[in-house]
Amino acid sequence: MKSCPICNSSETNAILKSEKEFLSNTIFDIRECFECGVSYTDPRPDNLDPYYPTNYRGYNFVINKLLKMFYQGRINGWTRRFKKPGKVLEIGCGPGYMLDVFRKKGWRVLGLERSADTARYAQEVLGLDVFVGDIDLIPEKREYDLIIIFNVLEHVTDPTTILRGCAKRLKPEGTLIINIPNINSLQARYAGSHWSHLDPPRHLFYFTPKSSENILSKCGLTINDIKYNSFEFDSFGWLQSLINKITGHYNVFALYLMGIEPFSRKVVLAMALSFFLIIPSCVLSIVGRLTKSGALMQVSARPNLL
Ligand SMILES: [Zn+2]
Repeated sequence: MKSCPICNSSETNAILKSEKEFLSNTIFDIRECFECGVSYTDPRPDNLDPYYPTNYRGYNFVINKLLKMFYQGRINGWTRRFKKPGKVLEIGCGPGYMLDVFRKKGWRVLGLERSADTARYAQEVLGLDVFVGDIDLIPEKREYDLIIIFNVLEHVTDPTTILRGCAKRLKPEGTLIINIPNINSLQARYAGSHWSHLDPPRHLFYFTPKSSENILSKCGLTINDIKYNSFEFDSFGWLQSLINKITGHYNVFALYLMGIEPFSRKVVLAMALSFFLIIPSCVLSIVGRLTKSGALMQVSARPNLL
């Protein structure tokens, strides 16, 4: 796939070559488009299912508890500017933890999820409304005060269809919030092919502040601001990237926490290193945030009205 899947330009260049995927040992390149600035995984597998093990993001109780705590803080920040609870749509809502927090704050909530298995928890255990499939399942009405796409856009095969769909479903004064990795971050540039958030082919696209602006404007949206406030994912990204660089193994610690990597010498080594690297990782994450080159961007945007 030499031409850019976003803008179709044939002016692209491989910025990282021969990245090996850990489950299948398949080789991927990361190509950057000169025209729109978006980078992408090449080649793109026809079927991505084999690259998503059953436990993908299926963290244990303690990690889930921690993530939920961070979700709570984040959602408080997002909802603060609304005088009263509104209506929120989360694209790629997973088991529905975020929507559950919104609902407890009095918001009306709807989720969209690609995996029926994952959606089942949200639907059956939490009793949330979740559609399984694409954005066209959601009526095209300007009814959402907030649409959230949290650590999901980099995984989807067609981000522009989703973003255009969001632009048409937001209220005129509504806000889209997207969390995505930043391939121009300090972390990505330092770690190169060891960057923990690279993760091809689960990640199909890699954005920068500039390329997110390009793609959003192509889809009828204008950026309000970009924040680098994902302290937990940013620090963990540093930790895992540093361990990757030292050991030459890829994301062993993260995979162990997901229950995908069995307990082994590699895991013990990663744990021992993390003991020494956790504080430097937190400090580096703060440096990234202060210099506006954090590894995760929170992009806030509004729809362009004709
Ligand atoms: Zn392009």
